[in-house]
Amino acid sequence: MTQALWFDPSLMLIGGTWRAAQDTLTLTNPSDGTELARIAAGQSVDIDAAVTAAHAARDGDWGRMSAAERGRILTKIGQAVLARVDELAEIEAHDVGKPLTQARADAIALARYMEFYGGAADKVMGDTIPYLDGYTVYTLREPHGVTGHIVPWNYPMQIIGRSVGAALAMGNACVLKPAEEACLTALAFAHICQDAGLPDGALNVVPGRGPEAGAALAAHPNIQHISFTGSVRTGALVQQAAGANVVPVTLELGGKSPQLVFDDADLDAALPFLVNAGIQNAGQTCSASSRILVQRGVYEAVRDRMAKAYAELSVGPAMGDPRVGPLISSRQKQIVDAFLAQGGDLTIAAQGHMLGDQNSGAYVLPTLFENVPPDHVLARDEIFGPVQVLIPFDTEDEAVQIANSTEYGLVASVWSANGARQMRLTKRLRAGQVFLNNYGAGGGVELPFGGVGKSGHGREKGFEALYGFSTLKTVAAYHG
Ligand code: NAD
Repeated sequence: MTQALWFDPSLMLIGGTWRAAQDTLTLTNPSDGTELARIAAGQSVDIDAAVTAAHAARDGDWGRMSAAERGRILTKIGQAVLARVDELAEIEAHDVGKPLTQARADAIALARYMEFYGGAADKVMGDTIPYLDGYTVYTLREPHGVTGHIVPWNYPMQIIGRSVGAALAMGNACVLKPAEEACLTALAFAHICQDAGLPDGALNVVPGRGPEAGAALAAHPNIQHISFTGSVRTGALVQQAAGANVVPVTLELGGKSPQLVFDDADLDAALPFLVNAGIQNAGQTCSASSRILVQRGVYEAVRDRMAKAYAELSVGPAMGDPRVGPLISSRQKQIVDAFLAQGGDLTIAAQGHMLGDQNSGAYVLPTLFENVPPDHVLARDEIFGPVQVLIPFDTEDEAVQIANSTEYGLVASVWSANGARQMRLTKRLRAGQVFLNNYGAGGGVELPFGGVGKSGHGREKGFEALYGFSTLKTVAAYHG
């Protein structure tokens, strides 16, 4: 496919050795529908081998390594990722259909995660606890042991960075199951880790189908934690499987995140965020802002400005670096097209435009619907495509009620100059992250991230993830 691929994509990494699986799967380039590569279709036997190798690493060099030395290796991995940003971006553009600029940002974020967690590895400390006379009590933060990581196709590099990076920083050994639709940067990352000196077995990568390799990992009796990012349906299955072994789970499951635009908002500042948060990565973003709630006084102004911006959105093959690339697959296109068909009773305010004839890729035109009732399916369900709905409101109470009316609660933002309103709404909005007069804050790796409700539970990113990827031991010493 591309000169950037410097490794054999058909192999899995288990215990430091690249090996073939019994079967392979085809990866397709979403920009043109052509075959991109064949990857391993790992099975439960391969997951078993990977879990065993991870335990061996925990019992060996990796488990004995000091926190400072772990951090040094992670930092070195981050530097190696930075040196290969362009190659990684090109691989991701082919594999995910992600426009080059966005793919590049993901590669830089991966490097940044490794730098952040490299620096943090030796800064996670326990407490001393004042207790009864004659006792000294303290807490130890310890790794879970072997952690499983089931990763989706939409942001492979960022999600690997935030979950594997934090897990390794705490001294866990990881088994990573990337998505069957896109896993080349996961394999590239594993090669980079090996080259940077990560001990054998600390990171194992087993690509494969979800119901086979993924299900085997989630149900494995010998893992101590599992981190899952993906759909609600699969997340519930993963939680059930892990529950049978009483294994703790972090779930990051998507959302229907609103931006609330009040009459006193700075519309010039808001506009790029209102649009970009909906169409970035062709809307296939768990924290995409798919609902734009606008107070009636500025409703028409916001609609007109967004419509103008939509008309300028170019859609085309990822390597041409358009604003919007293809969706991940023809299957995902069918899902999004079916949602668009359900919008037949609504008014379309604007759409983007195709660059040339793109008959063979999984393309969908970015679409902005206006005056959408809050209970309409397009205003309620996660679409995972470049589709946004405009919902007018009159009062702050009504805005909060609409914002909190879906089953999700991942991200929300408030555009208003009124400080008191900002403070009120940060408390009233049901979400894991609330942004004031911005959206996403540039995605900072330092910022804890995760949801409430069906957006999931547990937190990744920032220091908070280090607590999630570790367990607390209380030690009480009686010395009289
Ligand atoms: P999915 O949840 O099925 O897949 C995500 C990951 O889970 C992949 O690695 C997959 O192989 C694995 N998986 C699938 N079935 C599994 C099982 N039974 N046990 C363990 N692991 C399993 O998502 P999808 O089918 O790729 O996409 C479907 C929908 O999910 C999308 O339309 C979108 O709405 C949503 N989605 C959300 C996110 C997110 O970031 N929140 C990411 C991808 C997809």
